[in-house]
Amino acid sequence: MTATPAITIPADLLPGDGRFGCGPSKVRPEAVAALAAEAPTYLGTSHRQSTVKFMVSRLRNAVQELFALPDGYEVILGNGGTTAFWDAATFGLVEQRSQHLTFGEFSSKFAECTRRAPFLEDPSVISSDPGTAPTAVAEEGIDLYALTHNETSTGVATPIVRPEGAAPGSLVAVDATSAAGGLRFDAAQTDVYYFAPQKCLASDGGLWIAAVSPAALERIERLASGDRWIPASLDLKIALENSLKDQTYNTPALATVFLAVHQMEWINQNGGLGFSAGRSARNAEIMYKWAEESSYATPFVTDPELRSNVVATIDLDESVDATVVSAVLRANGVVDTDSYRKLGRNQLRVALFPAIDSEDVEALTACIDHVVGELTAS
Ligand SMILES: *Cc1c(COP(=O)(O)O)cnc(C)c1O
Repeated sequence: MTATPAITIPADLLPGDGRFGCGPSKVRPEAVAALAAEAPTYLGTSHRQSTVKFMVSRLRNAVQELFALPDGYEVILGNGGTTAFWDAATFGLVEQRSQHLTFGEFSSKFAECTRRAPFLEDPSVISSDPGTAPTAVAEEGIDLYALTHNETSTGVATPIVRPEGAAPGSLVAVDATSAAGGLRFDAAQTDVYYFAPQKCLASDGGLWIAAVSPAALERIERLASGDRWIPASLDLKIALENSLKDQTYNTPALATVFLAVHQMEWINQNGGLGFSAGRSARNAEIMYKWAEESSYATPFVTDPELRSNVVATIDLDESVDATVVSAVLRANGVVDTDSYRKLGRNQLRVALFPAIDSEDVEALTACIDHVVGELTAS
């Protein structure tokens, strides 16, 4: 690799906070300060005692409030992040055959889990090219439809609706890892809305959280009581039983729980999902407007309806090397604007999560313009 050109971005152009990564993503300094203040009585204390259990109950309540969950929905959680949840769902939510909409790296991964499971039929997979999104189609024999609210690898966000004509009793499971808290949706259209808190929830990784409907709770109970072998750490019934007691099956990262609570309570106190989704929408407006007006940048997602408000993917003209732009930004403290590695495009990818301030997105566009100006002048 060639050395990063020595370009210094003038200080008055730089954002106040230079974190634009899609996960782990910017953690609000207020949350870190609050954690430091509570650390002496919280960090390093037993997760089976009331202090931590109370924090877990705040997390579960905050999710209920944030998503205005319908009656009967429960919030459950466990360790291992979304990737572990895919395995847990493969064991404990898919009865025989699932359908997956795949349109990027993350949506493909859950499909791969169910395809490899020896106790399940091969899944039905409906794919579309990166930058677009497929539509779910009701199919005989499908007991779980696997959707992705926001495909983080490509910057495509999809509307969340139950497939028309899906059999009663079939479940809709939505990977909302990069969407939860940043995109509006109707929880009644979902049976399992699952995510990890290192993206819109501005916390750290390692935890999975799921909002689960009565139909999905029934499925979890039934599959766990059947004759399928389920490893305990991936057993959703065990996760459910512990969650109802405001605890996890094994030790969680206490800081992660705290930071997620802090972010969700901040959102809820400021008006809920409308507030946080509004912040992301404003960030998206700035980013896409800049790209559309730029002579060298273009939004990768051509259909404006599918363009994500939480993750922007911006193609650069071939005369400008995006990896060099990202590297120069990084050297100036503006980090993680690199495109998703496997997508292989000349692209910048920028998180627009609710914790990120609009002025900083504005400043980022000015920084990119400055860097590209310097690169093309030399
Ligand atoms: C980040 C991400 C994941 C992976 O989450 P982990 O917690 O790292 O397992 C899965 N799905 C989507 C849509 C993501 O953005």
